[in-house]
Amino acid sequence: MPISENMVQEIVQEVMAKMQIADAPAGKHGVFKDMNDAIEAAKKAQLVVKTMSMDQREKIITCIRKKIKENAEVLARMGVEETGMGNVGDKILKHHLVADKTPGTEDITTTAWSGDRGLTLIEMGPFGVIGAITPCTNPSETVLCNTMGMLAGGNTVVFNPHPAAVKTSIYAINLLNEASLESGGPDNIAVTVEKPTLETSNIMMKHKDIHLIAATGGPGVVTAVLSSGKRGIGAGAGNPPALVDATADIRKAAQDIVNGCTFDNNLPCIAEKEVVAVSSVVDELMHYMLTENDCYLASKEEQDKLVETVLAGGKLNRKCVGRDAKTLLSMIGVQAPANTRCIIFEGPKEHPLITTELMMPILGIVRAKDFDDAVEQAVWLEHGNRHSAHIHSKNIDNITKYAKAIDTAILVKNGPSYSALGFGGEGFCTFTIASRTGEGLTSASTFTKRRRCVMTDSLCIR
Ligand code: NAD
Repeated sequence: MPISENMVQEIVQEVMAKMQIADAPAGKHGVFKDMNDAIEAAKKAQLVVKTMSMDQREKIITCIRKKIKENAEVLARMGVEETGMGNVGDKILKHHLVADKTPGTEDITTTAWSGDRGLTLIEMGPFGVIGAITPCTNPSETVLCNTMGMLAGGNTVVFNPHPAAVKTSIYAINLLNEASLESGGPDNIAVTVEKPTLETSNIMMKHKDIHLIAATGGPGVVTAVLSSGKRGIGAGAGNPPALVDATADIRKAAQDIVNGCTFDNNLPCIAEKEVVAVSSVVDELMHYMLTENDCYLASKEEQDKLVETVLAGGKLNRKCVGRDAKTLLSMIGVQAPANTRCIIFEGPKEHPLITTELMMPILGIVRAKDFDDAVEQAVWLEHGNRHSAHIHSKNIDNITKYAKAIDTAILVKNGPSYSALGFGGEGFCTFTIASRTGEGLTSASTFTKRRRCVMTDSLCIR
């Protein structure tokens, strides 16, 4: 008996109805006690997702976009409250960016060759269930953005979020499953466990049903994923320098750099973490930062106190990460004006506040004797992460030289770093930048495998 489209739909609906009863405790869609159960549920959901048309996947993604916008403020507040990092206003903007500019199914494309010997296609197929490890710096942004891309590619996803951001991550996972159910899709397109730990992460990484792992975080997690024996997408740490040469519009450079550096209190991995400027423009640059961009110039003594507080015992003090400039200054006994946005100072590239990826609005400025020296120092400061770098220059030869030398996934020219995420710049948005493994800014197509589909001697109709 031929199987009609209606019959397929009925079977799909029946499977989905059973799954919802079995797997989803009310109000907690996608949240499980046990990692193995979470993976099992995501696997069942993927069986449904892979039978869905691209239109059906897109319908869910459209609903996810709507829900992110409706919940942008709740997610932003929750993220700041739970992690103690970042600021609500910028986090709202980040969620709108995810909703508006994360690619959906349009990113899944086909390559075709047709000729005398037939028709060959390269199709982008799903991996199945993807494992994803997410950071506390952009918790819900990463969960939402990853799921949209992974679902567009026909996958479902099991998250092991950062334990410090579990409540926010679970809220986002709930929204994703609600969007799927409301759009006629299955529950558990995204799942997690109530208490994510290194142990649950290990279970996930070793599980036979996980064929691809996307790790967004510092060097430890990327190395762990790349040692797992599975295919890994490694979105690791950065320490992006902003280079300013003598041809730059210095006033605009000061504004762009401070705007980028202070966005969400410097949490984004792409944000300006230090400046390298040629000697002839350093004073002017700092002048504009101080007079027009609400910066605070830290004295030598204040720098030393900041080192003691921010890098207590030589280790990054997590209580300082993602804090605003005024709070950081109050921690060292300085009552700064209420509008203070960024702490600046001039220092050598080896200064601990310059060489370390701090993720807070402290911006060291390194003086270079000329452009070549600036490039050399900036490359050193990027630490070979190949993540992000920025430049303010009107000399295209200089820009080209820097781009080749620093070899990063992102290079913003004459703008704030966040324009690389499509915010005030062209292009799509992502919060997983695969710097270590080379995929660069991830999108739906990154989460698919290439499948060659060959018909010999037919279907060429030229
Ligand atoms: P983190 O490395 O502390 O944690 C990230 C995630 O990895 C968390 O879920 C954590 O629980 C997990 N983790 C850490 N070590 C692990 C291990 N050995 N095995 C398994 N899981 C492990 O990072 P964070 O503080 O949450 O985020 C900030 C860091 O992430 C910064 O270094 C930043 O540059 C980087 N980051 C990179 C990107 C990118 O797209 N490249 C995006 C955001 C953040």
